[in-house]
Amino acid sequence: MKPDVLVLGAGMVGTCTALHLALRGHAVTLVDRREPGRETSYGNAGIIQREAVVPYAFPRHWGKLLGVALGRGADVHYHLGALPGLAGPLARYWRNSAPARHAQLSQAYAALIAHSLYTHDELIELAGAHRLVRREGYRWIFRTPAAMDAAVVEAQQLAARHGLRHAVMDRATLRREEPGVTERAVGALHWLDPWTVNDPGALVGLYAQALQARGGRVLIGDATSLAPAGRGWRVHTAEGEVQAAQAVVALGPWSAGLLQGLGYRYPLFIKRGYHRHYAAPVLPRLSLYDVEAGLVMGPMQRGVRVTTGAEFARLDAAPTPVQMHKAEALARELLPLGTPVEETPWMGARPCTADMLPVIGAAPRHRGLWFNLGHAHQGFTLGPASGRLLAELIGGEAPLLDPAPYAPARFG
Ligand SMILES: Cc1cc2nc3c(=O)[nH]c(=O)nc-3n(C[C@H](O)[C@H](O)[C@H](O)COP(=O)(O)OP(=O)(O)OC[C@H]3O[C@@H](n4cnc5c(N)ncnc54)[C@H](O)[C@@H]3O)c2cc1C
Repeated sequence: MKPDVLVLGAGMVGTCTALHLALRGHAVTLVDRREPGRETSYGNAGIIQREAVVPYAFPRHWGKLLGVALGRGADVHYHLGALPGLAGPLARYWRNSAPARHAQLSQAYAALIAHSLYTHDELIELAGAHRLVRREGYRWIFRTPAAMDAAVVEAQQLAARHGLRHAVMDRATLRREEPGVTERAVGALHWLDPWTVNDPGALVGLYAQALQARGGRVLIGDATSLAPAGRGWRVHTAEGEVQAAQAVVALGPWSAGLLQGLGYRYPLFIKRGYHRHYAAPVLPRLSLYDVEAGLVMGPMQRGVRVTTGAEFARLDAAPTPVQMHKAEALARELLPLGTPVEETPWMGARPCTADMLPVIGAAPRHRGLWFNLGHAHQGFTLGPASGRLLAELIGGEAPLLDPAPYAPARFG
């Protein structure tokens, strides 16, 4: 008989893990303190980024670093007080971003991203979620010809190496395709493979319903109550204590706290991010990434969702939406935006690792405990692929790809 499994965390990653386990015949309980898909997996830019074959490196160009230090742009912001606590993981992140090491890590990243589309498709089909998904790619838009030329050269190399499809659009073509975009944009690079989702949290919700339809339970509960019980694990939920032979930690940005309590001092950190929706006379047809300003404008059910870059801060520090204010002003240069839909911006946190690869596999020092976390900038993209991979590992099946680069044991 297949072991029963507790999955902690009902974001994209935990929900997909639970669904894949249920599809393989495990009795699954998915536990979260909220409804599924209400945290990071709700507030992201909603892009299933098949083109993201290179993980987001620490900037190593001095001009870029100076821009960050001086607080220019909307892509990076930091809390000075948080930096001492981040020094260890950030130093490792910096070393792993050196060109040769980054190229090596990118191979492992690209191998996983290559499974992103069809694994989402499997679950979209099961969940009947087609109406949320647009399969027409998304666009990088540019303010200067120099930035566009550099990005096009890089895109051509990546496209050739990884079999990705793209199209280059001059200003006139872009404005024909996206009539809302202003004259400030000089052109665009259209990545044709990615998909976009107009309500990311709702997609996770539908995947969770698909899990329930296959017998899985979805319960409100507190993951910090996880404790060994007999030959397995137990956790407190609103319906009482639940026990299972196996447990999976998929708590996204909250994973580090639980892991520390279990004695795992992994180099995990977070990059916070903000979004806000705006009413718009014309919604963009596809999501637009303003490469030079570091923000995304996406057509969502609630209006245009403007998302910001990374903020280095403590997970529990009060929101400081300076990037959101900058992003709004910058976005208005490219797209006519009306009034904000929400009173205050949403804030979330990307769960990052020092080597830019997610942590997927068996906990090295605890029997029956598994990790699926650290998906950083692409957890919405990677949830189904890494959920399937972990379900295969738990069930002792042949995995869809070599799991070694993502093994928790690499961090001890
Ligand atoms: C601004 C922004 C834009 C982004 N854009 C994209 C994008 O376009 N494409 C992409 O692929 N990725 C994107 N990402 C990254 C992506 O959103 C994340 O990598 C992904 O959502 C992480 O999923 P997760 O399931 O690991 O974490 P989460 O979605 O945060 O899920 C973790 C869950 O754990 C639960 N939890 C925490 N503590 C407890 C507890 N004690 N007890 C019970 N439950 C608990 C939480 O309630 C939550 O539901 C973006 C992120 C941000 C911030």
